[in-house]
Amino acid sequence: MKIIMLGAPGAGKGTQAKQIADKFSIPHISTGDIFRANIKEGTELGKKAKGYMDAGELVPDELVCDLVVDRIQKEDCANGFILDGFPRTIPQAEALTEALNAIGQKMDYAIDIEVDDAQIVERMGGRRACLGCGATYHIINIPPKKEGICDRCGSEIILRDDDKPETVQNRLNVYHEQTQPLIDYYKNEGILSSVDGTQPMDKVFADIIGIVG
Ligand code: ADP
Ligand code: AMP
Repeated sequence: MKIIMLGAPGAGKGTQAKQIADKFSIPHISTGDIFRANIKEGTELGKKAKGYMDAGELVPDELVCDLVVDRIQKEDCANGFILDGFPRTIPQAEALTEALNAIGQKMDYAIDIEVDDAQIVERMGGRRACLGCGATYHIINIPPKKEGICDRCGSEIILRDDDKPETVQNRLNVYHEQTQPLIDYYKNEGILSSVDGTQPMDKVFADIIGIVG
């Protein structure tokens, strides 16, 4: 069970990936979460990534690819894993394909969560993220039980710097230019499926289970 979540920033990849990972007991690997954890801990990687992230740009491929290739070879990935936010460029997809080829494996599913740009802008403006455990909420669509506090770990939830309106449009442009071509890449690999990401969260989840289940 090796799954890639595709879709624009804010399409719901993380929201769905967490549920899929829980259901199938496989690790949820979010490169965005890995970078945010590194920024929080003040590591060299975090320092290198921060400027790109704050500007809504992609972190260079060479800082991302080795990190993911190492991660998916860890023991907990033996029964599968779900990638969220990686690959985001064609060279990243090629690096992933090559790394898996080298150990006689391939990805099983690439699931594209389709949401139009207008809804993406609304979702990112309302997104609140927990810096403690990585959970995400939406102030209207998926609010926490107690305003401003994470249901899962009790930490404060915040508006990510890169979800501010001035950065969101650039992230969407970057998505269309650099990441959307992956839809054709995985169509050619024969593993692409699409789901309507504008449906309620549970319905999107049911559609994904219908594909991978
Ligand atoms: P991504 O990981 O693709 O960037 P998220 O999973 O963080 O996206 O979701 C973006 C925002 O949209 C969050 O605020 C999340 O709570 C909200 N969201 C996710 N799925 C849905 C849905 N099906 N309907 C409405 N809002 C959603
Ligand atoms: P996300 O949490 O997936 O929305 O990612 C937040 C930010 O982290 C992105 O806007 C990029 O700056 C950076 N990032 C995450 N994953 C990648 C990746 N695979 N390649 C390049 N940059 C990434």
